[in-house]
Formats: sequence, structure tokens, C-alpha cells
Amino acid sequence: MMNNKKTALVTGGAKGIGSAICRALAIDGYKIAINYNSSQTEAVDLKNELSAITEVEIFKADVSDSKQVKEMFSVIEKVFGGVDVLVNNAGIAGQMLFTDITDEMWQKMINVNLSSAFYCCREALKFMINKKSGRIINIASMWGETGASMEVHYSASKAGLIGLTKALAKEVGLSGVTVNAVSPGVIMTDMMNSFSEADIAVLKDETPLNSLGTAENVADAVSFLASEKADFITGQVISVNGGFVI
Ligand code: NAP
Repeated sequence: MMNNKKTALVTGGAKGIGSAICRALAIDGYKIAINYNSSQTEAVDLKNELSAITEVEIFKADVSDSKQVKEMFSVIEKVFGGVDVLVNNAGIAGQMLFTDITDEMWQKMINVNLSSAFYCCREALKFMINKKSGRIINIASMWGETGASMEVHYSASKAGLIGLTKALAKEVGLSGVTVNAVSPGVIMTDMMNSFSEADIAVLKDETPLNSLGTAENVADAVSFLASEKADFITGQVISVNGGFVI
């Protein structure tokens, strides 16, 4: 039976895939720490929604800033006592020619998508190693597995996240902590807003299951990896992409 005293922190948890993960883990019985940066209204709305089923609190922090991450974890520790499940979901995307990527764009992509996971894992592990148990789940991308043209900085950040997942899994296994990645394909969230209907139709056509993914599809995989059913799984990349990448 699920220990409903455990706490899950979801970065970028107020909207899109993050909010679906918060809902799934709340149903699984976790207390939910919702991190948000700019989506305060959505965070408050989600807190109100989930309050009916679990303890939930919202925490504002730009997770690409190590100082803000440290502060967020110290507040979470006071409110919930620590973090048992960390889902590094916060992320940004961007399409452009490689030669047009500026230093600032490159740094921002790496900081938001990769350094954030480093900062959050470092803080969460203090608690998890002490407790000799914990789950870290990183939301990667199929482009981190295969590389996407016009998204080199995004692909590099997600490939880095997969590398972090594998290496950290080896290092903290003896401490009872598992580290896995969920690697989504095309999922219909605000992140896809910059794609035209024609582009989206092509992506759907290229997907063997001939449909686009939902945030809930990704959340289901996270729920599994956080559960006792995934006790013997670590260092893995679970793809949720309708067969787009096989
Ligand atoms: P989304 O709706 O645009 O959500 C992005 C989330 O990231 C928001 O909750 C946002 O929080 C958060 N975020 C961005 N910068 C942040 C920062 N500096 N600090 C804290 N939070 C930050 O997109 P989504 O599709 O749900 O994306 C969620 C994750 O899935 C991302 O890592 C993305 O790369 C990955 N993914 C998505 C797809 C897809 O097709 N949608 C495919 C593969 C992987 P605020 O709004 O509060 O700032």
C-alpha cells in the first residue's frame, strides 16, 4: 500500500506535463510540492484542486538559479520534512538555426533544462541519502536521444539530462535512491504552440501509433517509476513517444 506520508516535488508543476504529474502523484497518495516560476495563477488553481485529495503547497523558484533552489528546498523541508520523490520537469524549448544561437540562448537552455536538475538533485539527495531511499525522475525528450535539427541546444540539454540520469543512478544506487528518465515524444502542451497545424500533422503521421501524446501519458510513466512496481529499475530512459523513436 502507498505510504501517504511521502512527499513529491514536481518542478514546473503548475501547467502542462508537470500539472498532470502532480495530479497523478496526488492520486497515488503523495503530498505534493508544486514548484512554479511564472505560472502563479495556475499553481494556485492546481493547489486548490489537489487540496481535496492530499496535502499540497506551492513553491516559487526559478530552478535555473542554484540559490533559489537551495531556498526552496529549505522551505519545503520546513513544510513537509523533505522530498521523497523529485521530478525534474521544468524546461524550455526553442527552434532555430544552430548558427543563430547566441551565448545567452545557449546558457539559458542549459541552465533551465540541465543545471536545474543538478541543483535540485543535489538538494534532494541530502535528504534521500540520509533516509536511504528516494526516487528521482527526470523529464528528458526523444530529441535528447536522437537529436533534432534546429533544436541543437534543446537536444544537447536533454542528452545531458540523460547522461546525468545514468551516471547518478550508478552513484546513488547503494543509498537506496533510483534515478530514471522519462523521455516524451510529441505531447500537446503549450510547448508545441510554436508549431503550425501542418507541422503537427506531419509529426502525427510520422508516429507509428498515429496520434500525439497527452500530458497524462507522460504522468502515467512517472507514476510507475515512483511506485514500488519500479523498485528494481534505475538508470533507465523510459520512452513515451507512440513509437516515434524505436
Ligand atoms: P510547458 O507547458 O511549456 O511547461 C513548462 C514548464 O516548465 C512550466 O511549468 C514552467 O513553469 C516550467 N519552467 C520553465 N522554466 C522554469 C524555471 N526557470 N524555473 C521553474 N520552472 C520553469 O511545457 P511541457 O510540455 O509541459 O514541458 C514539460 C517538460 O516536458 C519540459 O522539460 C519539456 O522539455 C519536456 N518535454 C515536452 C515535450 C512536449 O512535446 N510537450 C516533449 C518532450 C519533452 P512556469 O510556467 O511557472 O514558469
